[in-house]
Amino acid sequence: MLELSTPVQFVKGVGPRIAELLATKAISTVGDLLHYLPFRYEDRLNPRGIAELRPGEMATVIAEVRNSGLFRTRKMPIFQLTVGQGRARLRCLWFHATYLQDKFRPGQLIALYGKVEEDQRSRELQIIQPQFEVLGDAADGEGNSADKKAAESLEIGRIVPIYEATGKLSARWFRRIIRTALDNLTPDLPDPIPAMVRSHIGLISPRAALWNVHWPEPGESFEALQASRTPAHIRMIFDELFFVELGLELKRRQQKAQTGIAFQLDERARAAIKWILPFHPTAAQKRVLKEIAGDMEKPYPMRRLLQGDVGSGKTIVGFEAAIIAIENGCQVALMAPTEILAQQHYFSARRILENAGYRIVLLTGSLESDRKREIRRHIAQGNAQLVIGTHALLEEKVEFAKLGLVIVDEQHRFGVMQRLKLMKKSGETEEGGQAATSPAEPDVLVMTATPIPRTLALTLYGDLDVSVLDELPPGRTSIVTRRVSDDQSPKVWDFVRKQVAAGHQAYVVYPVISESEESEVKAAIKMYRELSGVVFPDLKVGLLHGRLDSALKDQVMRMFQNGELQILVATTVIEVGVDVPNATMMVIEHAERFGLAQLHQLRGRIGRGAAKSYCVLMTGGKVTEEAEKRLKALVDNNDGFKIAELDLELRGPGEFFGTRQAGLPDFRVANIIRDAKLLEAARNEAAAVLSGPNSEISSEEISRALVQMRTRWQHTYGLAEVG
Ligand code: ADP
Ligand code: MG
Repeated sequence: MLELSTPVQFVKGVGPRIAELLATKAISTVGDLLHYLPFRYEDRLNPRGIAELRPGEMATVIAEVRNSGLFRTRKMPIFQLTVGQGRARLRCLWFHATYLQDKFRPGQLIALYGKVEEDQRSRELQIIQPQFEVLGDAADGEGNSADKKAAESLEIGRIVPIYEATGKLSARWFRRIIRTALDNLTPDLPDPIPAMVRSHIGLISPRAALWNVHWPEPGESFEALQASRTPAHIRMIFDELFFVELGLELKRRQQKAQTGIAFQLDERARAAIKWILPFHPTAAQKRVLKEIAGDMEKPYPMRRLLQGDVGSGKTIVGFEAAIIAIENGCQVALMAPTEILAQQHYFSARRILENAGYRIVLLTGSLESDRKREIRRHIAQGNAQLVIGTHALLEEKVEFAKLGLVIVDEQHRFGVMQRLKLMKKSGETEEGGQAATSPAEPDVLVMTATPIPRTLALTLYGDLDVSVLDELPPGRTSIVTRRVSDDQSPKVWDFVRKQVAAGHQAYVVYPVISESEESEVKAAIKMYRELSGVVFPDLKVGLLHGRLDSALKDQVMRMFQNGELQILVATTVIEVGVDVPNATMMVIEHAERFGLAQLHQLRGRIGRGAAKSYCVLMTGGKVTEEAEKRLKALVDNNDGFKIAELDLELRGPGEFFGTRQAGLPDFRVANIIRDAKLLEAARNEAAAVLSGPNSEISSEEISRALVQMRTRWQHTYGLAEVG
């Protein structure tokens, strides 16, 4: 009998050589093999008759081979196959398919799947490039007749699973091997999910799930199968999600078992916050501050993610939290991903907080070392109350006298490892549990303007609580976004001129700094010369890019902020955080070269004041179909959450989060976008199980969940090796 943990090479028909092949697909045990699910199913119980086919439908047809042959057109070789049912005939075509030449013999039974089309000229029905399976010659001709019968019964007269072939291993091969594994699987599979959860969700047994997901019962809904929504699918998906969520929940509990600082939100702190506020907070800002303050009052450390679209006003919320900590006698560290942004925070902190007497310092990598040393001393002695910086705060030997709160702005720009390192800097131990004896942990607030769907945030940042700023400050008019090709640029420059004449400012963004980087792409330096010298000789135009030394960067940014520059030519250094409310125009050249999230971030630099703002996406040269979709998504949508969803759809989760290091768990059967509801349910159940008075889950299962977390997602959650 096979167990789920049995090495896959012991399944009859596999052996060591094939086991090696399977290992490249991450299949090494029987359990792995049984989690290799069909990507679709074919209804060979009710296949379509050729006579009843309609153009446009996807159809499964089982028919007999009549004849086949290769013919050559001027453009390419085409392989043609004609199949029949009685008198009815159907033609199939494959382009460039010389490899099919000797594949078919008249009289063979064949299953075809593809889109039915009508031939333009002859009006006859045909299927172009169908997927096909020659039925009924088992083991590709080597088998005896009993094998043949068995194979046939797996392939005709039922709903048949279709697996993704891999290298030499065909879909049929998988079908047979998985069937063999199921036939020899031990009858008593343990059920790791607690009975309470099983009955809540209505889960079928693991054994039934494994069978039915591969070999659906005759009455099963075909639609549910294709959508992965049969009870069997749900059981398998839930299993996977439940243990991830259990691990995350445990991690959260460990964090809460640590000693934090129970800040007091007394009258004085409240009054201090009220005093500094330069405007009425939005309802969302109030709600979010309440959530943050609630965390800060707790005796364990805060670990909260604040998501808010660009311009939703996260900075002030961060400052409010900072005041609570400072009024409690603690220091606060605020980290930004770029020097420009750190500078900007420093200036607005001074504008907003310094009147109230708070002592604020800026510590960035580009400061002279004497100055740095002096600032570090201020920090170590506790003189500096709010320390603003880039990740230099992480790297330099910065010692705090009493660090109480760490705020990380624009988290998406920091790698996950950096985030973990920062938390470590703030004293977090690897295995939270042992922290009881160590000094109090600072609170951590992470802010990001790359909103991701809530359920996804819960998985990705499952060890964080999540707050959402879902409201923009009042008086914003929505940004008008247009897409034009760059032969229209004279018109665009005219429009820029009008905006400037009306007292506003404009950004013009380029994908690269200098021409040598990519010859056919317009570059910031060259276009700066052209715009300042030829197009707008009478206006004040500035240039900002990453290679300028930081004093100069600083100066340019400040001049733009003060209105001394009317037009800022820049690269994506201005992508995040930059806040100049008087800028109403954003021109992005070669917009086809930017990602969707990036474009949205760039556009977020405008529309920050009351005046109407305009974003022009200029394209130069060839625009791919993908790029076209991105541009359209941006023209049609202003809401960052909606755009994030579209981005996810367009790129898929892997690409969306960039690297593996970004930490998307690689699920075997679950898909966190498709299965968002189940993910939410798994999270609730995991929490309930661990809270239950007589927790039903055994300690073995808990440690299994933790091991699973550790080995598969250590990079994401830093459970094992951090830093
Ligand atoms: P982001 O969430 O992108 O970091 P910011 O914190 O930079 O947004 O805020 C964007 C702009 O909105 C800033 O100019 C800020 O001063 C302003 N702002 C924030 N909250 C409010 C509010 N409640 N009322 C009016 N203006 C606000
Ligand atoms: Mg910001």
